[in-house]
Amino acid sequence: NTQISEVLQQLGIKELNPAYSTGLEWGGLGNPNTKEIYSPADGKLIAAVQMATAADYETVVQTAQKAFAVWQRVPAPKRGEIVRQIGDRLRQYKEPLGKLVSYEMGKIYQEGLGEVQEMVDICDFAVGLSRQMYGLTMHSERPEHRMYEQYHPLGIVGIISAFNFPVAVWSWNSMLAAVCGDVCIWKPSEKTPLTAVACQHIISSVLKENNLPEGVFSLIIGDAQIGELMSNDVRVPLVSATGSTRMGKKVGAAVGARLGKALLELGGNNAIIVTPNADLEMAVRAIVFGAVGTAGQRCTTTRRIIVHESQYEEIKNRLVKIYEQLPIGNPLKEGTLVGPLIDKDAVKAFTNALEHVQKEGGKLLTGGSLVSGEGFESGTYVRPAIVEAQNHYEMVQEETFAPILYLIRYTGGVEEAIALQNGVKQGLSSSIFSTNMRETEAFLTHWGSDCGIANVNIGTSGAEIGGAFGGEKETGGGRESGSDAWKAYMRRQTNTINYSTQLPLAQGIKFDI
Ligand code: NAD
Repeated sequence: NTQISEVLQQLGIKELNPAYSTGLEWGGLGNPNTKEIYSPADGKLIAAVQMATAADYETVVQTAQKAFAVWQRVPAPKRGEIVRQIGDRLRQYKEPLGKLVSYEMGKIYQEGLGEVQEMVDICDFAVGLSRQMYGLTMHSERPEHRMYEQYHPLGIVGIISAFNFPVAVWSWNSMLAAVCGDVCIWKPSEKTPLTAVACQHIISSVLKENNLPEGVFSLIIGDAQIGELMSNDVRVPLVSATGSTRMGKKVGAAVGARLGKALLELGGNNAIIVTPNADLEMAVRAIVFGAVGTAGQRCTTTRRIIVHESQYEEIKNRLVKIYEQLPIGNPLKEGTLVGPLIDKDAVKAFTNALEHVQKEGGKLLTGGSLVSGEGFESGTYVRPAIVEAQNHYEMVQEETFAPILYLIRYTGGVEEAIALQNGVKQGLSSSIFSTNMRETEAFLTHWGSDCGIANVNIGTSGAEIGGAFGGEKETGGGRESGSDAWKAYMRRQTNTINYSTQLPLAQGIKFDI
C-alpha cells in the first residue's frame, strides 16, 4: 500500500504483523489466524496482522511477571527517566505516527497529531509524577509512634483499549503505570492494531538503549478473547478497559468475580446546555466541534444539546446551515473536518439509529445519508445528522457511536435543563453555555451535573491531560490521566512504627499477659 509505505519507512518499521511483543522480542508470526486491516479512509488493505493465541498470552504474562520483579525495584524517578526518553521518541515520530493514526482509524490528520501530542504530554506529566507519588503522614494516638502511608506498585496492568483513541489511551495508562512501578500488557482494539505495533516499535528502541528486561511494556494483538483471558487472570491485578458499556459490564464482572481491580472508561451520552444567557457564537462553535469532530466517534462527543426555547430556533438554524457546508472527505486531506466512520458496521448503526429515532417521533433536520462517489469508495463516509428529539426517546438514551446530534428543547429554569442532562444512564462529559453566574454555579453544585467532567463555556470533548478523566454511572467510574489518577495503579499501605519501649494498643485496649 503506497499510502502507508512511506509512513512505515519514516517510522523504521519493516514488520507490521506480529501477534505480540514483550518489548524487543516479537512473536506469533506463524499463527493460524490473521486479520486484514483496511483503512476507513480509502478502503484499501493496509496490512494483515497475526492474532495472538492463548499460548502467546501465556508467554507474554510470564515474561511480564519476571520483568515486574526487576522493574518494581527501579527507583521511581529512574523509571521516570525511561518515560522521559519514550516521550522524546514519540515527539520525534509525531508526524508519521499521527498520519498512521489518521489512516488506520479515520480521524483527520490534525486530530491524529493531537492524539500523539497527548501521548507526549502524558509522558511529561508522568516524568514529574515519578518524583511526586506522595502518601500522607498521620499523628498516631500512641506515644512515640509514627504513622504514614506509602504507595507500592501493583504488578501487571492489563490495558484494553478502544479503536477511537488507538494510541493515546494506552499512553495514559502505561506511562502512569510505568512510573508507579507496574509492568503493562496492552491489548489494543482489533480494529486498530497497526498503530499499536508502530508504538511498540518506537518505544522498543528506548527499551533497548536502556537494557531493560523483556516484559516491562508488552503488546498483544487479539480480540475479545484475549481481553477475557486478561479479565479472568489473577496474575493481572488491574485491568484498565476502555470501550463500550457492554464490554465494561463483562470485564467488570469477570475482574470483580476474582476481586481484582478494574478501571473502566466506557460510553458517554454527553450534553451541552444552552441557556438564555449563552454566548451563541461560542456555543455554536463548541457544539459543532463536539458533535462532528472525529466523526462523532469520541467518548466525549456532544450527542445532545439542551437548548432554552428562547435560543432554540436561532441555534437550530445556525447549526443546520453549518452542517450543510461541512467539508467531509479523506482525513489526510487538508481542510477536511469530517472523516469516515471506522467501518461499515458503524455506518449501519448510524442509519439504524436514525431510522429508529424517527419512528419514535424524532425529526431529521439535516444529514443522515451515506456519502458516495469518487473518494468515498470505502462506503464509510456519512453526512452528520441533526435530529429534533425528546430526551426520553430510546435512541436518545443510547450512545450511537456516530455523528448524530439530538436537539432537545427546555422551557423552564436551569434546573430543568440539568435534570434533562442528567436523565441518561451514562455520566461522562457535560457542559453549560451561559454568562450568568447563578446558572453556571448551579450546574457545578452537588445537585448539578452528575458527570465526571462538567465544563463551563467549553464543549464536552477535548479534555486536557492534567485533570482526571472519566465518568460516572454506566461510564464506569474510572479515572485516568492527570490529578491523582495514578493512585489506581498502586496499592496503598499504612505503616505504623513504634520507637518506644512499650507496646500500647490502639483504642487504649488492655491486654496484659
Ligand atoms: P468495544 O467495547 O467494542 O471494544 C473495546 C475493547 O474491548 C477492544 O479492545 C475489544 O477487543 C475489547 N473487548 C470487547 N469485548 C470484550 C470482552 N468481553 N472482554 C474483554 N475485552 C473485550 O469498543 P470500541 O467500539 O472499540 O470503542 C468505542 C466505545 O469506547 C464507545 O462506547 C466509547 O464511548 C468508548 N470509549 C470510552 C472512553 C472513555 O474514556 N470513557 C474512551 C474511548 C472510547
